[in-house]
Amino acid sequence: MLGEVIAALPATAPVDASYRAWLSRHIDDPQLVEALIGLTFIVTYDHDPGRLSAAFVHDRLRRGGRHVRYVEGGWAPMIDTLAARAIDLGVELRRGARVRSVPDGPTILATTLSTARRLMGDPDLDWPGTRVALFDLGLRPAASVGWFRVFDLDQRIYAARYSEADPTLAPEGHHLIQIAAALAPGEPFTAVLARVHELLDSTAHGWADDVDWKRAYELSNETGAVDLPGTGWPDRPAVLRTRSVALATDHSAAPGLLTEVAHNAARSAIATFSDAPTGSASQASVHG
Ligand SMILES: Cc1cc2nc3c(=O)[nH]c(=O)nc-3n(C[C@H](O)[C@H](O)[C@H](O)COP(=O)(O)OP(=O)(O)OC[C@H]3O[C@@H](n4cnc5c(N)ncnc54)[C@H](O)[C@@H]3O)c2cc1C
Repeated sequence: MLGEVIAALPATAPVDASYRAWLSRHIDDPQLVEALIGLTFIVTYDHDPGRLSAAFVHDRLRRGGRHVRYVEGGWAPMIDTLAARAIDLGVELRRGARVRSVPDGPTILATTLSTARRLMGDPDLDWPGTRVALFDLGLRPAASVGWFRVFDLDQRIYAARYSEADPTLAPEGHHLIQIAAALAPGEPFTAVLARVHELLDSTAHGWADDVDWKRAYELSNETGAVDLPGTGWPDRPAVLRTRSVALATDHSAAPGLLTEVAHNAARSAIATFSDAPTGSASQASVHG
């Protein structure tokens, strides 16, 4: 049903309108509008995607969630493979080494935006992001969880039993459930915890008795940029900050979905430094 509604929407949405206002122009049923807004939590991680730019959310909804591929072992082996490849190509990687100042020479800061703000002492390095609560649950084999994924559209909660897609993630027969839930500004963690427990109580009866491992944490601005009405990716902090310092974060002025933004920012920074004589980048494209 939601798939048909999405397919019937125009291919593009305006930058200036909020997603809620734009959807309401195309869909008569307010409940359906709110259901679609709830669905876009998973491609924006925002507590209220209806407040964001229609162009930003609509683009993500049309692209996100398609052809999902689960890498065996999860995120960590993928990072290890990328790191090994970089080392093979001659890159020197130093892990656990905190950079405390911006080095001399052409530099691409690939940290979070807030770290870059501190390192550069530049208060302009700011852009809206999200607040999410994450819960990981290891359940014993006896747990009665019949689903692979559950989405609470009203409460902005997405839960997936990833061990169903990749059994190597949990001890044999056990279940690994990972949950992402939106936190509104100022919302206490206890409130989101209660919402998550309510969802689990109604979808996985008796789950609490079968927990043998769990962790929970809160993240701010770690799921990529969100664009408010009237703004788009070109308005975010520019990739090139000075003649020799570029910024490749998922809040940078680069196109893409979630992590793609950081990748595209990095590619743009590399292209600029590769084209320019060592130590200097094109004056024309320097920020500010
Ligand atoms: C629950 C969740 C689900 C997500 N799902 C998806 C998804 O399905 N698809 C998708 O594309 N994206 C997803 N994202 C977003 C994605 O994780 C981020 O966009 C991506 O990690 C950004 O990568 P990055 O390298 O720019 O920044 P980060 O991953 O934040 O890495 C920045 C690095 O900089 C390091 N650092 C910070 N300060 C310093 C310092 N002073 N010196 C040295 N190093 C420093 C940090 O330790 C960190 O390793 C998800 C995010 C979350 C939280």
